[in-house]
Order: sequence, then C-alpha cells, then structure tokens
Amino acid sequence: MSLPSLRSLLAVFKPAHPPGLPHDGRGGRFVVVIDCVLNQNVRDQGAANCPAMNFEILRLCHEKGIGIMQMPCPEIAALGFKRQRPPGISIRQALDTPAGRLACAELAASVVGRVVELSEQGFTPLAVLGGNLRSPGCAVHPETSSLGAESGIFMLALQAELRRHGLDLPFRGLRDASPDGLAEDLRWFGRLSVVADA
Ligand code: SF4
Repeated sequence: MSLPSLRSLLAVFKPAHPPGLPHDGRGGRFVVVIDCVLNQNVRDQGAANCPAMNFEILRLCHEKGIGIMQMPCPEIAALGFKRQRPPGISIRQALDTPAGRLACAELAASVVGRVVELSEQGFTPLAVLGGNLRSPGCAVHPETSSLGAESGIFMLALQAELRRHGLDLPFRGLRDASPDGLAEDLRWFGRLSVVADA
C-alpha cells in the first residue's frame, strides 16, 4: 500500500479529537484499574492467576486509544504486603475495621483527586475496573451492575468518593479467576468503549 493511501486509511480510524485538548497524539480517555491487573506480584499468596499482567485489557485499551490509570493495591496500603492481621481474622474482616476503612478512604481520596484533576483538564474517565468476586478490597459483582454489601471495601470507598465529586462511573470486575467471566468482562469493556466513541 502506498504511503498516501495508508495515511488516509489511518485518518478514517483515528477517533475525533476531543474538544479543548491539545492537538497532539492523545486520545483524551482513560480507565481506572486496580493494581494487580497490571502487576500480579502485588496479589496475596496463592491469588495470582498469571505471571505478570492481564494483557488482554492492555491490548484492548491500546486498540481503542484508552489510557490506563493504575491504582495502588488497597490491601497493601491497609495491611502491608503480607496482609498482616490477627490470627483467625480474614483480610475482609481486617479491611472492614475503622483502621482498614480509613486506609481505603485515604487511598480513594488520593485516586479520585487524580481522576478529578484529569477530568477538569478535559479527559474522560470511562470506568473503574475492579477485581474478582471474592476480592476483599476490590470485588465488583457484574450481575448487580452496581456495588453492594459484598463488594470490595476499597471499591465502596472509591465509589463514595467519586460520587462526592459528582462522578458516577460504571464499575466492573475483571474476573481473571474465571476464563468465562473474564471474557464476558472484556466484551463489556469493548462495548463500553464503542458507546463512548459514539
Ligand atoms: S486488593 Fe485489589 S489491587 Fe490488591 S491484589 Fe486484591 S484485587 Fe488486586
């Protein structure tokens, strides 16, 4: 294919430039993602599902021109890398204490501060991508399409903080513990990014 025709083909597929943003290569959209999606090393003992990262979501974001904001792991922020807690206490129980909820709220405030700052610059946050159904910090239950009592302690804090700033983003877990669940979640994100394109 000649260079001019390749250029015209690329121009067709390039998303319209977001109004108000600098005229450079940026697409103006981003998704907010939990730490372990991009770095499985932060997971608790026995909970990692692959050596490094969820490459499928990276590929999808790359194809759709969507940036990724990675949030620090809330379990590590609240309990340390070893998830230290008294014997017989689950990670969820340890997070669901005044100290655990405070650590999650502080982390949520820091993340949302960044989301708000980028939003004010004209960038569009598309969604929050959380974790598996049993994650104490980051569970999101797709069948409810909103957060509930079983959702991760950090996800609940994050949604409350986002709403406090007038941002009502969709939440979705990336269920990498279940191939079928993960495929469904990736299809959901693919559809979301197309709707956001329209
Ligand atoms: S708390 Fe969240 S970010 Fe940390 S390992 Fe669990 S799912 Fe990943």
